[in-house]
Amino acid sequence: MLLARLKTIIPIIAVAMIIQSSLQAATSTSTSPPPIKALSMLLEGNNHFVKGEMQHLSYVAEAKDKLLEKQTPFAVIVGCSDSRVPPEVIFDRGLGELFVVRVAGNVLGPIEIGSVEFAVEVLKSPLVMVLGHQNCGAVKASLQGSENVPDFLEAIYPLIKDALKNCETIKANALINAINCNVKKGVETLKNSSVIAPLIEQKKIKVVGAYFDFDSGKVQLISD
Ligand SMILES: [Zn+2]
Repeated sequence: MLLARLKTIIPIIAVAMIIQSSLQAATSTSTSPPPIKALSMLLEGNNHFVKGEMQHLSYVAEAKDKLLEKQTPFAVIVGCSDSRVPPEVIFDRGLGELFVVRVAGNVLGPIEIGSVEFAVEVLKSPLVMVLGHQNCGAVKASLQGSENVPDFLEAIYPLIKDALKNCETIKANALINAINCNVKKGVETLKNSSVIAPLIEQKKIKVVGAYFDFDSGKVQLISD
């Protein structure tokens, strides 16, 4: 009985989701800035953060009217879960402006790739940034080699290991090189997505890689 009822309900939910996605797609196209403008908005926000002149701290101001019906984030950030790298803070952005995918080591497995694809295809976000950061613990642990990797990195390590192929990780700046290689691998992975590649080709979106530096608070582009 319950199963029969679920069989009826599930297609209805699926259709409702498709309609909602279509509506969202239709309404968000006109409000998306061009990719290069989205990038300058992000970097401008980071400049506010560095100078201590942040402008997006009020919930009331952000929430009024515009957030209830839909979201139109102008950028997707794939960042590390590290507590010191919250994208909304370091880019000085408010609710509804950034679509954030956070995972230890800012790796891109199927779940993260699917989340980014949703944002660019349905929400029409014009910019994707893979953001690594100084002294990333997940990358550092992965540099120790497979035998020394802790159990909690079991799912993440293969993705970072793959990113470190052909990466200079022996000399003094091994960690920073590895972090940058991991970001570049993430960018490459996204550029190979069958959903994302055509949007890049049509110049509707841009995928870039960047590095957050704790010493300066600055985000620097390392791949575009
Ligand atoms: Zn990290």
